[in-house]
Amino acid sequence: MMLRIKRVPTIVSNFQAEDAGARSGCGRNCLKSCCIQGAKLPLYAFKKENSVDGEKAQEKKEPPVEFLDSLLLGEWEDRMQRGLFRYDVTACETKVIPGDYGFVAQLNEGRHLKKRPTEFRVDKVLQPFDGNKFNFTKVGQEEVLFQFEASEDGDVQFFPNAPIDVDNSPSVVAINVSPIEYGHVLLIPRIFECLPQRIDRESFLLALYMAAEAANPYFRLGYNSLGAFATINHLHFQAYYLAVPFPIEKASTKKVTTLDSGVKISELVNYPVRGLVFEGGNTLQDLSNNVSEACSCLQDNNIPYNVLIADCGRRIFLLPQCYAEKQALGEVSAELLDTQVNPAVWEISGHIVLKRREDFEGASEGNAWRLLAEVSLSEERFQEVNALIFEAISSNSRLLEEEAADLAKNREESGPIKGSSRRPTMVSGTQECLVLQ
Ligand SMILES: [Zn+2]
Repeated sequence: MMLRIKRVPTIVSNFQAEDAGARSGCGRNCLKSCCIQGAKLPLYAFKKENSVDGEKAQEKKEPPVEFLDSLLLGEWEDRMQRGLFRYDVTACETKVIPGDYGFVAQLNEGRHLKKRPTEFRVDKVLQPFDGNKFNFTKVGQEEVLFQFEASEDGDVQFFPNAPIDVDNSPSVVAINVSPIEYGHVLLIPRIFECLPQRIDRESFLLALYMAAEAANPYFRLGYNSLGAFATINHLHFQAYYLAVPFPIEKASTKKVTTLDSGVKISELVNYPVRGLVFEGGNTLQDLSNNVSEACSCLQDNNIPYNVLIADCGRRIFLLPQCYAEKQALGEVSAELLDTQVNPAVWEISGHIVLKRREDFEGASEGNAWRLLAEVSLSEERFQEVNALIFEAISSNSRLLEEEAADLAKNREESGPIKGSSRRPTMVSGTQECLVLQ
């Protein structure tokens, strides 16, 4: 059986609706060989060694350009003035829902208009890249803001007008023409390699470097896997600026373990979606490696998930989910489906984009909670998935000696390992999602 859901696809590029075949001289100024000759874009080369604790920040030289304020948001506003967006997101109503968590509701009536629902397969987290479908090499050059690369000489560098070296497949930052907030962009790692939507070490580290470079906790990056509301199977992260804390960032956590890389892993507590939080580590690379190992594990086990990169790249939320699967199986209530809310990374983090005024007017913490609770794995399934993740991580990096000793001690004291044990154990994953009744 193949699981599919129908949803209105998000239009991220003005070239998405049209059939953008690779005709020579397509006349649309795209990124393919027909138009790329001689094209130039700004190039921001970031410094690689960003320590997680930010201690080295003081040694940093004055950057040649302010990454977030001048480059990213400046170029984004330029595209807004040029009328490239499908609607004015700055005119959308937004409010913080009263309550303990501070869920943020946005009314965005324009996002899904003029578009028919399309079928999406939701039961395969990894699917091969398909050059015939829409992908980011088909966007117009005017939608691309700049190239984002590691610096060769270890210092931040900025070139306002750099050639596009197709053979080196630069990573680029482009606008999302259906923004959900100010500065909504897409980071597309090594765009010309046409990678499918799948996290790998190098790409995830690039996303963390972007968060670190922005150096503002209100600028977050997010990732949706296939089956967890990604609609385009071409590797990309999203990012935007919103100057309020997200509810997920304020949620309590319970420490699970500290890895020998120094990365601390916790579980979210009293939050409607169950998830893991990764933070700390000796370097940004340690943190990145551990999270991408966890993501690979979920991908290999066909478990859809979302990732939020918060706190300038120092805090990562990993959220396996099963909403689309439930939707495909007819297990989501009509009341929730009628809202047409697609619970992707931003919704799960507590920024909920609503499409109907009635839902916006009636938005309450209880409603937000009920929606997100449907997204979450059950406790039983979550612990099964955690066991898979810890097994995958510990096969690469051992738990701290003291942690292991503690666990051994606990085992002696409390007898057989219970379901809630944090010890990495092999549990065969089932493909189904256990629904919490
Ligand atoms: Zn072209």
